[in-house]
Amino acid sequence: MDKNKNYIELEKLCRELGVDIFGVADIKEIKQDFLIADKILAKVDRAICFGSRLTHGILEELADTPDRLYYHHYKTVNAFLDQAALRLGNYIQDKGYLALPIAASQIVDWDKLKGHLSHKRIGYLAGLGWIGRNNLLVHKTLGSQFRLVTVLTDMPLKTDKPIKDGCGPCRACIEVCPAKAIKPDPEDFNLQLCFAKLKEFQNAHLVDQYVCGLCLKCCKGRG
Ligand code: SF4
Ligand code: SF4
Repeated sequence: MDKNKNYIELEKLCRELGVDIFGVADIKEIKQDFLIADKILAKVDRAICFGSRLTHGILEELADTPDRLYYHHYKTVNAFLDQAALRLGNYIQDKGYLALPIAASQIVDWDKLKGHLSHKRIGYLAGLGWIGRNNLLVHKTLGSQFRLVTVLTDMPLKTDKPIKDGCGPCRACIEVCPAKAIKPDPEDFNLQLCFAKLKEFQNAHLVDQYVCGLCLKCCKGRG
């Protein structure tokens, strides 16, 4: 049971599949919040979280609302991540361990707008970035221009730690948010205002899901 060796093998596979960022979180303290059966949760204590960047040209094409080109890209990146999570899960299973690939984008609690778990929260614990003023995970070189997926497992794996970093003096996303949901203090992010704007975009048939993309277009990290 070599935690480091397993970590290296899984990261190598993910990189070969085309994944851009990779980390592993210890989920013992947070798994009670997941919307997953207790009997499975009792067995898993590691979450492999990995991400794929969004394409600059698609983001540059966005103006002041989301559009069909961005929406298709959003779905394509999620589908790629779901496929990669499936491949990684099968690899882990072939090694004799449990694996649960969790959908990159799927709401299962519509009242609270929650998925089975928060990839953002797990990505933070896995050291992939900090929670920015835009309420998204911000990676030091990719900014918020990526999507995430998670695979839960009982495979012995070394874990990463949250990074001590933050937005610093950057305020780029505050001005571009059409909902005025982003504030100087990340704690003051107004989820209700953001969500109302996402609904507006969907009701106007600009996109078929609650997506926007405007605050991540301007979030380019520090690299
Ligand atoms: S997703 Fe859109 S509405 Fe929500 S905070 Fe970002 S820019 Fe504002
Ligand atoms: S655009 Fe700047 S202020 Fe906004 S989340 Fe990104 S790094 Fe933070």
